[in-house]
Amino acid sequence: MNSDRIRENLLTVQGRIAQAARRSGREPAAVTLVAVTKKRPVELLRPLLEAGTLDLGENYPQELWEKVEALSGAPAPIRWHLIGHLQGNKARRTLPMVRLIHAVDSLKLLKTLDDLAAEVADPPEVCLQVNTSAEEAKHGWKDASVLADADAIAACSRIKVAGLMTMAAYGTDAETARPSFVRLRAIRDSLARLTGLPLRSLSMGMSNDYEAAVEEGATLVRVGSALFEGVEP
Ligand SMILES: *Cc1c(COP(=O)(O)O)cnc(C)c1O
Repeated sequence: MNSDRIRENLLTVQGRIAQAARRSGREPAAVTLVAVTKKRPVELLRPLLEAGTLDLGENYPQELWEKVEALSGAPAPIRWHLIGHLQGNKARRTLPMVRLIHAVDSLKLLKTLDDLAAEVADPPEVCLQVNTSAEEAKHGWKDASVLADADAIAACSRIKVAGLMTMAAYGTDAETARPSFVRLRAIRDSLARLTGLPLRSLSMGMSNDYEAAVEEGATLVRVGSALFEGVEP
């Protein structure tokens, strides 16, 4: 049964997150598992919700909107995360639906969200995407270039900038990904100093490398395929 398999996978991932947190001297509760559900049908999201995993991450605004609608009657309130690229023209509709936008990848988008936040009662938090792997194809500020925008970031006072997000180089394993995570935390520390913002959130780590990310200080891990391993389409 798919739902049994998803429950087992979830327990495995939660256990590994907890162990990695303890190895780094943190409470397991300091790390939020964002279950990445992109391209999965709504039926496969229900076992996660029933098991109490209410933080769900989607990549594509259109798919997010459809799933928010389809699960609007869910018994417990879902905390939706947009983890993929957001185009400015999809921001207004997306903003009221999500708790956190992980991948704000330009000052222009941050300013758009800051303007739109004035229209929303309880606007989401955002993380700024930093490209720590030097892969050209990735969105976001190139490494420490985000520090040059510190004043402009601090001036966006309506939207809450909670921290930073990164994606390790494509196809890497935990150990080759680790330097990206160390780098993100160092850039976060510098940006926090320059902006005066606490920037507590570090969104880093996916199925292949989330344990290393937790050891290096991730507060949010974005895990998809490890939760759906062995699940029939
Ligand atoms: C798909 C995706 C994930 C999850 O990746 P898995 O390897 O399936 O865990 C995490 N973050 C982003 C930005 C993604 O696009």
